[in-house]
Amino acid sequence: MPHPQGIIDVIVVGAGNAALTAAIAARAEGARVLVLEKAPRELRGGNTRFTGGLFRCTYNGIADLVPIVRAHDDPTTVTVEPYTRSDYLKDIERTTGGQADRVLSEVLVDRSYETVRWMADLGVPWEFNRAVGAVPIAGTATVKLPFGGALRVKGEGVVLSATLFQLAEEAGVEILYETQAQRILTATNGRIEGVEVRRPEGINLLPCRALVLASGGFQANPEMRTAYLGPDWSLVRVRGTRFNTGEMLRAALTVGAQSYGEWSGCHATPIDAEAPMYGELRLTDRTNRLSYPFSIMVNLDGERFVDEGEDFPLYTYAKMGRAVLKQRGALAFQIFDRKTIPLLETRYNTGTPIVADTLAALAERIVARYRLHGFRKTTFLHTVEAYNAAVQAGPFNPTILDGKRTMGLRPEKTNWATRLDEPPFYAYPVTVGITFTFGGIRINADAAVVDYLDRPIPGLFATGEITGGFFYANYPGGAGLMRGAVFGRLAGTHAARFAREASAG
Ligand SMILES: Cc1cc2nc3c(=O)[nH]c(=O)nc-3n(C[C@H](O)[C@H](O)[C@H](O)COP(=O)(O)OP(=O)(O)OC[C@H]3O[C@@H](n4cnc5c(N)ncnc54)[C@H](O)[C@@H]3O)c2cc1C
Repeated sequence: MPHPQGIIDVIVVGAGNAALTAAIAARAEGARVLVLEKAPRELRGGNTRFTGGLFRCTYNGIADLVPIVRAHDDPTTVTVEPYTRSDYLKDIERTTGGQADRVLSEVLVDRSYETVRWMADLGVPWEFNRAVGAVPIAGTATVKLPFGGALRVKGEGVVLSATLFQLAEEAGVEILYETQAQRILTATNGRIEGVEVRRPEGINLLPCRALVLASGGFQANPEMRTAYLGPDWSLVRVRGTRFNTGEMLRAALTVGAQSYGEWSGCHATPIDAEAPMYGELRLTDRTNRLSYPFSIMVNLDGERFVDEGEDFPLYTYAKMGRAVLKQRGALAFQIFDRKTIPLLETRYNTGTPIVADTLAALAERIVARYRLHGFRKTTFLHTVEAYNAAVQAGPFNPTILDGKRTMGLRPEKTNWATRLDEPPFYAYPVTVGITFTFGGIRINADAAVVDYLDRPIPGLFATGEITGGFFYANYPGGAGLMRGAVFGRLAGTHAARFAREASAG
């Protein structure tokens, strides 16, 4: 059954940050826009709603940020270093091992600041990011904001999502809930003609002039996880929405979209070992456990397995989940002592640590809590002893890569190595949580989906986690939302222009 309003100019599949920025931009170009959301209304908003609302954008200093945060925050209580185009590109290059698409990376970086300004002008509220990767400066009321991660949406993903829905609705965008897109309809001339959807009352064909795919990755689909990421990923916990299951990724490949990026790669972080199997809106992103640079992480065999202090957490957390997954039982323990506990992110409050006054008692309590798993307490005690002996002298400074390291361990801890010697001792149990997948379809600098000859598929656009080529093995924190918004705005604008030309022709 066709849509009652006839041919829609632009249909957007999905209702996260990528989709709604596209819908708002398309509407601003004068297009009639319909958004399809697979989730019921109360669960709408995809992974976006679960996010910490952190956006990575360029800025030359505090003066660039003040017009964005406006009255929502006080710039005298933060310090920030400039984050330039070349810093951002270098961060993408080093986190992805030089594999990220150069053209797409440049568009992301070059349009990041103006896109955040655009969102602020629309009405999205911003504040300084004091939560993730920010470090209090001892003896002052000032916080040093993380390099490149100075901004987040005030009220995090929940407010970002609610604001974007409100802006879209006020602009006249129509939204259909419980509407799963499942097939792309093309004409014999190769143009997009519409989309087939599954709704509570049955299957509908919705005709459109342009289609924007923004339906996320496939991380919530155990079958696709197993096929592309590997069998170890079959049963992992999903940090966000349960609705990103990849069917439109497959549909796009079926109509000739080029598959692109690291299909075996994903963003996955250490999360509370007691976290639910899928994200829950009461917890959003608060199961994350990212203060590990101030800990040692040990597995059930009592051994360390990563350099916890390799870099600031915003540059290591996205790959750290995979490191935890490789451990027996996909379980690890972050060990802190009295000195480092004040540095923990407030999100740790949602967990139940194991606490004791001696390391031996801590080990006993881990054994007791995880009695089915076989924690090796003697090896653990040797590991801590060897670690403490290997810690080198020098000042500990959590606001910089302080170079305070161990010597003689495998793996070494290369920053923020302090002895575990002041009770009480804490163990936070962690497992792996998958955030989103890196493989997807290929787009060009206009967010048009291209085929295997790099030619745009007429009328097909994409943005957000459904696109590939941006991130490999790892990513710089905050680049996910930024990518979705930069290319969402581009996708919506170009889809609306395409639809206008199509209806004129
Ligand atoms: C807990 C958590 C915290 C995060 N924090 C941050 C952060 O602070 N900063 C950052 O940059 N990134 C963060 N991320 C990553 C972040 O989720 C993404 O970068 C961003 O939100 C993805 O936006 P998106 O619009 O592409 O996907 P989503 O927001 O997931 O939207 C996908 C939409 O598509 C819908 N959908 C799926 N399939 C279909 C279908 N077949 N038909 C119709 N609709 C469909 C879904 O229901 C959903 O509405 C976080 C992720 C999680 C899980």
